[in-house]
Amino acid sequence: MSYEVVVVGGGVGGLTAAALLAARGVNVCLLERQSDVGGCAATIEHGGHRFEPTHGLYCGWEAGGIYERLFSALGTTRPRAHPQSTAYVIRLPDGIEVPRTTQIEDFEAHLSSAFPECAAAAIDFYRGLANFTKRETESKTFAAHLSRCSPRFHRFVDVQLQTLVQCPTEVCGAELAASALDPQRQFWSIEGGAQTLIDSLAQSFKRSGGALRLNSTALRLAYGSSGVPVGVDLLSGEQVIATRAIISNLTIWDTYGKLIGPARTPRDISSRLRDLRAWGAYQTFLTLNNSIAASIPSRPVLALTDWQENQPYDPEEAQLVFSAFPGTSNDGTGQLSATVSAYTNAEDWFSFHEDHAAHEERDQSMLERVWSRMHRAIPELGDGIELIETATPQTYYESTRRRFGMIGRVASVSGSTPGGVVESPYPNLFLVGDTVSDGPGLESVTQSAWEIANEIAPIS
Ligand SMILES: Cc1cc2nc3c(=O)[nH]c(=O)nc-3n(C[C@H](O)[C@H](O)[C@H](O)COP(=O)(O)OP(=O)(O)OC[C@H]3O[C@@H](n4cnc5c(N)ncnc54)[C@H](O)[C@@H]3O)c2cc1C
Repeated sequence: MSYEVVVVGGGVGGLTAAALLAARGVNVCLLERQSDVGGCAATIEHGGHRFEPTHGLYCGWEAGGIYERLFSALGTTRPRAHPQSTAYVIRLPDGIEVPRTTQIEDFEAHLSSAFPECAAAAIDFYRGLANFTKRETESKTFAAHLSRCSPRFHRFVDVQLQTLVQCPTEVCGAELAASALDPQRQFWSIEGGAQTLIDSLAQSFKRSGGALRLNSTALRLAYGSSGVPVGVDLLSGEQVIATRAIISNLTIWDTYGKLIGPARTPRDISSRLRDLRAWGAYQTFLTLNNSIAASIPSRPVLALTDWQENQPYDPEEAQLVFSAFPGTSNDGTGQLSATVSAYTNAEDWFSFHEDHAAHEERDQSMLERVWSRMHRAIPELGDGIELIETATPQTYYESTRRRFGMIGRVASVSGSTPGGVVESPYPNLFLVGDTVSDGPGLESVTQSAWEIANEIAPIS
């Protein structure tokens, strides 16, 4: 089969690029190895209950934002999203809680009472975020901006940065950190969660005549005699030709390691890729009894569970994110579902890749640690919860084939910036997704897909 554009991977990145191109009249084929699209953001079903795997923290839905532009270009109604005056709450190990609200006076009052030891410095720090200039952010590390604040306040910033951009203060780029923490940044909830966005994109793609091929695994790029990619070889043995462009929605490691192929990956790129890592996620999927539904926090809780004084921030032991969603069970009870997410070193879960029993043992031990920390951080859960399932980096690998099941943004082990490898080595190959986009979360993935679509088929 031959198409103008072949997109490999139907995560939000691949789907958005495919839907935009199809809406502009381009003949597009989207290859997805799973039986459904959505990748990391798709709703998961366990034991008859549906769970939203993300934290439910979404940006970019304001007037003039990326989603307004996207759905206007698609010519379809955009999913309903609601601004959240309190995006999330941060709970500290001493039980103090700070709601992250866009009501600046309230937020500053909370900062003053939570951090009496450095109240003025903490407020100045947040006021300064809005005025960070590029020159200022380049000349200082982000940690330097916190020099007048207490270690407790540092940890308050760490737990937020790790959740929002997957890097704590010491290693986070100042510009990224400043935009992630900006108290004016508006967070939204999407009705039906990220799955509504996924469904809208898939419907738009199909309506525009795009060819959606599920259960279709891309094996590698197919090359012409000039050494330039001409299409994609599938695991089934079929070759799909792309006359105009190929878009990879795979992670940066998998685009090179699988699609382009190790033999065609320049040596400097291979060594840069070895230097890059992303975190893994350990998740528990819970249902909540109706008896506690009214008492649990309605917004995500970023729980700092250990101050980790005088040591580098280790998110695996220091934090959890609790998010509750109005779930729907198949028996129609409308029970609330919830996730508790922890960061974990993804590669550690693969040292015993073939040994199922060792994986189960590690899962059990991680569950016990997460369970007791979760009860300490969110005591209102009591015994009103039921554990339905857990997910480890191996689970993420099995569902999405992301390298080591790593999720979210990429960081460099050596401290250098991940730039350079995100450039495609071929003029007709484009990279989209969270490991190659500039900012955090789905907003940034969507923005990068928008830019690629404009490059391949500019708006006339
Ligand atoms: C625990 C957790 C919480 C999160 N919380 C939030 C949040 O609150 N807010 C937010 O904005 N973001 C959040 N995110 C981030 C967001 O979900 C992801 O960054 C985003 O979904 C990634 O999309 P993607 O298109 O880059 O890639 P993916 O979702 O990884 O999609 C890639 C697709 O490619 C397919 N594929 C892989 N190999 C092949 C192959 N060989 N052939 C064909 N198809 C293939 C996969 O099956 C997958 O469908 C969270 C992520 C996690 C894990």
